[in-house]
Amino acid sequence: MFSCVLCEKNEEYLFFSKFCAKCRKIKHHLNLSGERVYEVLDNVLGRNLEGQDNKIKEELKKEIEEKTYNLRNKEKK
Ligand SMILES: [Zn+2]
Repeated sequence: MFSCVLCEKNEEYLFFSKFCAKCRKIKHHLNLSGERVYEVLDNVLGRNLEGQDNKIKEELKKEIEEKTYNLRNKEKK
């Protein structure tokens, strides 16, 4: 039986992909956000549960600020 190369489960595994549906989603995020995905995973999942909520909020805030900043810069050009 074939399994997904990332999570090593068989669920929803498709022949034409090395990844299952869920892991393809991770791959999609990697393609879109690149290094940021590793940063977020490290910062958010590398903490204990209590710290996670706060960190998630921080990460989201940072992301929103960056996007707002980029939008403002684009408008200036
Ligand atoms: Zn998988």
